[in-house]
Amino acid sequence: MLLVNTTALSSSHCSKCGTVANLYKHGKKKQLFFDLPIHANRVGIYVNRPRYKCKECNETFFENLPNMDVHRSVTNRLIN
Ligand SMILES: [Zn+2]
Repeated sequence: MLLVNTTALSSSHCSKCGTVANLYKHGKKKQLFFDLPIHANRVGIYVNRPRYKCKECNETFFENLPNMDVHRSVTNRLIN
């Protein structure tokens, strides 16, 4: 299996109240996603997902990953 490391883009806003300015980093998590196979090799992508906490409403949430299905741990192009 081919493995790739990447970091989530930080364009964060609170998923609960929409605040952008009052976020602070609250740890991170490494999550493995599967992508389209290349030359019959499975491709895994390790994504470092920063975790944030919102000072406005105390919600904690992970960086959103628009190209990934975070519940099934696959990239969207693998589904489509
Ligand atoms: Zn909030």
